[in-house]
Amino acid sequence: MKLDILTDPNPLLRQANRDLNAADLATEEMRNFIASLTETMYASDGVGIAAPQVGKSVNLCVIAKNFSNSKDKDLVLVNPEWEKRAIAKIWGEEGCLSVPGLYGKVRRYKKIRVNALDEYGQTVEFEADDFFARVLQHEIDHLNGILFIDKAKDIYHIDKNL
Ligand code: ZN
Repeated sequence: MKLDILTDPNPLLRQANRDLNAADLATEEMRNFIASLTETMYASDGVGIAAPQVGKSVNLCVIAKNFSNSKDKDLVLVNPEWEKRAIAKIWGEEGCLSVPGLYGKVRRYKKIRVNALDEYGQTVEFEADDFFARVLQHEIDHLNGILFIDKAKDIYHIDKNL
């Protein structure tokens, strides 16, 4: 089921979110939610999406398989944390389903290490570079109430109807 995406400004996009445990993840409700969140991401042409973007205040995000390390499966991350693996940061253009029509350049770490649970409650740990690392930093920012426009420069507007 496609869910409604909240857009800025909305207090649900600006707050801390709740961690999930293996028991939370084992419920049918949570499995259905993850499927709906993924469907919403694809229906909106997103490369990633975070639970608070659809008004669910939990620490969970999805990265589309084509932009993640595991090309055969969408990446579900629960309670994700990351640390930089190199000091290099690079500028790159970003947009956001919750900030429609706005784009801008954001400086992100080029290489990071992520620690999280997967959708089954198993620990996952991996390294990410370049665009994959950028998407991860963007989505994990959402879980901390941060939007890309807080960090972006050269912000511009494109009306998708044009
Ligand atoms: Zn976003």
